[in-house]
Amino acid sequence: MSVETKPVKVVCPTCNTETKIEIPTFIVQDSLEGVVNVQVPAGACCLEHSFIAFVDKKFKVRGYQNVDVEFKAGGKEKTAEQKKAEGLKGYTFTDMVGMVGPDICATILRGILAGVPILLLDTFDLYDRVDKTVMLLKDTCTDELEVLIEKIAKESLENKKKLSRDAIIVVPMYKAITRSPFREAINTRYESSLLQETVHLPDRASQIVFLRKELAKINMVIEDIVMVLKTVEKLYEEDISTYIKNKFNFKIEAKDIDVIRQVIAFKHDKKEAQKITSKYADFLT
Ligand SMILES: [Zn+2]
Repeated sequence: MSVETKPVKVVCPTCNTETKIEIPTFIVQDSLEGVVNVQVPAGACCLEHSFIAFVDKKFKVRGYQNVDVEFKAGGKEKTAEQKKAEGLKGYTFTDMVGMVGPDICATILRGILAGVPILLLDTFDLYDRVDKTVMLLKDTCTDELEVLIEKIAKESLENKKKLSRDAIIVVPMYKAITRSPFREAINTRYESSLLQETVHLPDRASQIVFLRKELAKINMVIEDIVMVLKTVEKLYEEDISTYIKNKFNFKIEAKDIDVIRQVIAFKHDKKEAQKITSKYADFLT
């Protein structure tokens, strides 16, 4: 089965290397808003960097999402034999990152934190990896982080317009997101570092336990900060790290505070999120 593609010019946002990549036309045509997020993995444009390109209906890049961390994949890619032999429970985050791409994966984690449905488009695959991805994500998102995660057929997309309005629609086999509720580029540095740690754990069970625990922690911190914001005029980024460390004994780097601000802006209240500012920004005004 061959898929019709079109070349798109991309430029690495980190090192400016330029190349052309082939993008399947159907993912662009199917996008609900006319812009598709396409994973450009390390090795496709330059050797070191992976990023997401926002591609419009005219097959032109409108912008990039780039977390500026070099993602080092853990483990080797499975051979065709291994893929055929692996069951639902043999599929790990290492496999998922390899298939979907690190930045698309990080964006899915952001979707989970923001509480949006994750819909995975079913396309032909010998190894049922879309089913396996759904199962992996479902097993990870239990308890506090329960979001709708399901596989959908292309034909049912129309009927699901209402449902899919706030959803992330992923086309896992083509490393793409055809619909995202996040209007602009988001900073998924935090999620990327979580994934990085996850894929270096040896098996599915330990990966799930680790990621579930970490997502629950950051979720709890975000809920806490939402309450704090209601009582203050502004909250400095520089103080949030210390506050979280003291209250939860949980370390989050100042440059990762974006995840807190962006999730609050998306899930709770934009105005409240704007109260999070930096002392440096204050000094400039
Ligand atoms: Zn580069």
